[in-house]
Order: sequence, then C-alpha cells, then structure tokens
Amino acid sequence: MDEPAYRARQVLKWVWGKEICDFDLMTNVSKALRAKLAETYSFNLPEVRKAEQSSDGTIKFLMSMADQKTAESVLIPAEDHYTQCVSTQIGCPMGCLFCSTGRMGFDRNLSSGEIAGQILSARKYLRENNYPLPLNNLVLMGMGEPLLNWEQVKKALSIFRDPDGLNFSRRKITLSTVGVKKSLRELGESNLVFLAVSLHAPNQGLRRSIMPGAASYEFNELISDLEKYPLAHRDRVTIEYVMLKGINDSLSHARELVKVLSKVKCKINLLRYNPDHSSDFKCSSEENIFVFQDFLRSRGFTVMLRKSMGADIHAACGQLKSAATEN
Ligand code: SF4
Repeated sequence: MDEPAYRARQVLKWVWGKEICDFDLMTNVSKALRAKLAETYSFNLPEVRKAEQSSDGTIKFLMSMADQKTAESVLIPAEDHYTQCVSTQIGCPMGCLFCSTGRMGFDRNLSSGEIAGQILSARKYLRENNYPLPLNNLVLMGMGEPLLNWEQVKKALSIFRDPDGLNFSRRKITLSTVGVKKSLRELGESNLVFLAVSLHAPNQGLRRSIMPGAASYEFNELISDLEKYPLAHRDRVTIEYVMLKGINDSLSHARELVKVLSKVKCKINLLRYNPDHSSDFKCSSEENIFVFQDFLRSRGFTVMLRKSMGADIHAACGQLKSAATEN
C-alpha cells in the first residue's frame, strides 16, 4: 500500500497483540490509512458455530471459516491454563486409518490467518463466557498435517511467536507431524517450536498399513533425519505412539521400537486409542499398555502415558472432523 513498514507492525500489534479487529479503534494509525485499510481488508475470524464441553472440562469448538467450511479446535484444561489444539487443514490427505480426520479425506488448506485466528476466536469465547483460565499453550495437533501446509503454518508460527503478535514462547508450542521430509528440515532450521512425531509403528511395513500417506517418507530415512534433527541441549523430540490392540502393541513391537529409536534424542508418549464407531481398531488393554511402557522404561526411555481428554464429546486425539461429516 506504499506505506512505511512500521505501519504494518502497528496494525500487527492491534490485531494479534491487542486482539482488536476493528480498524476504527487503531488510534495510532492515521484516519486516512484506517479508511484505506477498511476499504481493502476485512476481518474474518473463524466463527464459533458450536461449543461443547466435556465432563473433564475440555471444550471443543466447531469453527466456521469465511467460505462456511468448518474445522474443529479443542481447549484442553490444566490446573492453571488451557492448551489449544489447533487445526491446520480441513480434512487431511494422509489417511491414517485410526483417525477420524484421515477418514474424511482432504478438503483444503487453512490460511495462516485461519490458523492463528482460531486462537483469537477461542480467547474471545473464554472472555465472553467468563472462563477464568488463560490460554497459554498451543499444540498443532488438530485436523490436518501441518507440514503439508508448511508455507501457511510457517506464517502462523511467526504470528504465534512475534512479541508484538500472540507472543508465545517456543516452549509453549508443539507441532505434531507424521513427517514430510522437506518441511521437517525447514522446521528444524527455523527453531520456532517443539517437534512431536506421530510414529505409531516400529517399521515401514506396519506403518504403511495403518498410515498410508506417511509411507512416502520411508521409515528408516525418517528415523535417520530425526537422529540429526537440530535440538538445543536439553530438548528432545516427542515420539507419539498410539496403542492399537493386536496391531502395534506386542513386546516384539516394543523391542523393535527400542532398537530404531536408540540414536534419536527423544521421549515417548503412549496414547490410549479413542475408539470410534466407524473404525475397527480397539485400544490395547491397560495391562498391555503398562507392560509396553515398562519395557521401554527398562531400556532407558522416558515414557509418558498421555491422559486422554474430551473423548465423551469426540474431542480427543484422532476424533476431530468437520461438520459436513458429523453423524
Ligand atoms: S493422524 Fe494426523 S496426519 Fe494422520 S490422518 Fe489424522 S490428522 Fe492426518
């Protein structure tokens, strides 16, 4: 718009820093420029079309974009804050068989504004409904594979991290991916966020059978890239592993996992599978999960068994989908 660069930063501060989505209220911007901005741009925050609350306090939003396409986003409560699980695509082309988003197919990428806008919309909802906890942490683990929409996700991450923007520190943001080679390298170089990798199998054959879209990044190549992934001294990659009964949860799978991860600086998150009526997968038994966990621990790994939140409102891991596919 032939304006000096500092003007852009002023607007950025209003929108993302102060959460003001009205040009008229941007008082340090000249009236003439405010009018020009209002003629050229409009604010289309994702609109909360539906909000459901779980018995454990998790809140699931169905958010509608300007073109009426919808994506889900989830607030997970902790003692003193919420973590928001943010979506990056409508649907997902990866087609993981145990995931509701994967089964709905792919519609489109979300723009950086639609990705970051989910945070403004969630904060607005919390304010207007007098929820006391702040939204302090972000995980890019909602609908979609973030690294397949890397250009938009990268822009959204810069809004998350900018001190004049949403101002989240790196430690407060985790991006979860099944792995996309080129963007994974760029993500590592960017040092913008923590990395979580949805591995879910200890070898290429099994992984391909349950995560067909992820198979193009060959398993051994992915592991070797994770071994070289740039990490600060105390940082580790999180390996996500969903426990699927009779599929990936035997002791021999645990042994294989120990072997392949031996040189990856990582911690392991085991996830209880959240069953869905449209899938044949079942969650491993509690006993099986503990045996699996104990084995990994006995081999020196830090292993967490992640608490599943929001399953009663289909807000848990692997359960998100669009309105068009509900019921
Ligand atoms: S698990 Fe993640 S990558 Fe796989 S289909 Fe679901 S959203 Fe996509």
